[in-house]
Amino acid sequence: MEWQKEEQTLGDPIVWSPGDSRCQTPTEEGQEEGVESAVATLGMEADGASADGLWALPVELAERRPECSRCSRPQKVCLCPFLPVHPLHISTHLYIIQHPAEESKVLRTVPLLAACLPQEKCKVKIGRRFSEERDPELSAVCRKPCTLILYPGAEAANLEEVILDSPIYPSTIIIIDGTWSQAKDIFYKNSLFRLPKQVQLNTSISSQYVIRMQPTNSCLSTLECAAVALSILEKNNYIQETLLRPLQALCSFQLQHGAQIRLSKEHLLKNGIYPKPMPKNKRKLRKMELLMNSVKI
Ligand SMILES: [Zn+2]
Repeated sequence: MEWQKEEQTLGDPIVWSPGDSRCQTPTEEGQEEGVESAVATLGMEADGASADGLWALPVELAERRPECSRCSRPQKVCLCPFLPVHPLHISTHLYIIQHPAEESKVLRTVPLLAACLPQEKCKVKIGRRFSEERDPELSAVCRKPCTLILYPGAEAANLEEVILDSPIYPSTIIIIDGTWSQAKDIFYKNSLFRLPKQVQLNTSISSQYVIRMQPTNSCLSTLECAAVALSILEKNNYIQETLLRPLQALCSFQLQHGAQIRLSKEHLLKNGIYPKPMPKNKRKLRKMELLMNSVKI
């Protein structure tokens, strides 16, 4: 759900900057530019231009800077000093179902999350379609009665209430990492993900991931969702504090290097300062109106 290419103005830029935001789980669709789209644009320009000089175009435009092997940040802006010395001890298993587009994003939060947790407790599965045949392990996880999936909606129960009422204490939670439309697609088009009990976070915390525009004031990044969910499941607030520390450091660094605090789309709309024209598409317009009136979408 990013409209901006903030990395281009920062001290830590990679030319093609995308987004990573989330509304409890998903975020709304936005304009995102990944490496592929940048390459596609280059291709389009090349097609329309004379061939002279095109061969001189640099081929390593999309190349990333050397990354830290632990936090996956560029080595110059490694966030490891803000990670716990040892991975956190948790009993919950976390599965992140990551849309393939998320993997190429620059300011992604999942590597920071994974770096804070034991490897065997945090598994990232990349893809859009999952089935028994393609992923028997994930399929087995989805069938277990102690597995939950974090995806907000009318059918979702509040996580805090689930752990009070559930006869079997949840041992695994699945979180979908993608924009709103990507997560919706993954959730509804994979019947596997409707097997676990659907839960949501009934939290009043606002996202600290202030360098991304979130759809509403209550939308959280993937890392924040995981931090809140794990602290509830593990009954340990220290987990939330520890997991949020690298995110706070990331935002603070980016703000010091020219990034700006991004108010939520909801805030901009409600205050009449949304910088873009309203969409002409009726469905999109309706979504904007719902957002303005704070109706959950
Ligand atoms: Zn690092």
